[in-house]
Amino acid sequence: MLKISQSNYETLRRHGEETYPHECCGVLLGRMEDDGTRVVTSTARAGNTRLDSLHNRYNIDPKDLIRIQREGRERDEDIIGFYHSHPDHPAQWSQTDHNEAHWFGCSYVITSVEKGKAVLTNSFELTGSDEDDKKLVDEQIEVA
Ligand SMILES: [Zn+2]
Repeated sequence: MLKISQSNYETLRRHGEETYPHECCGVLLGRMEDDGTRVVTSTARAGNTRLDSLHNRYNIDPKDLIRIQREGRERDEDIIGFYHSHPDHPAQWSQTDHNEAHWFGCSYVITSVEKGKAVLTNSFELTGSDEDDKKLVDEQIEVA
């Protein structure tokens, strides 16, 4: 399960509306509880490096990721997930999303943005132990 505050939830959904008709992407920072629940305490926007095909692919700039990870550690936050938007596409992971997901135990949050308006937000946990058995599994989002 992913726990997120109303304001962080709105922030990541707004981001997808702002970059429409392109995809947005960003990082979820927070902590992992003993029962495996991920608790989001902040979000960080990232630049999209996939300028060739902004509407159906995303890739976080590695330099951004290192900076976000470092700044998070200074606040005792870890990277616990990632988010991106699907402009005019359902809030379901694509084959590309699956191929490019490598952070096991992290949440992958996808928001569908239809005609510039954020509609559905879903989260998927990357389970498994290596590239051969990895799976993106539906998980509940609790907005508090
Ligand atoms: Zn996607």
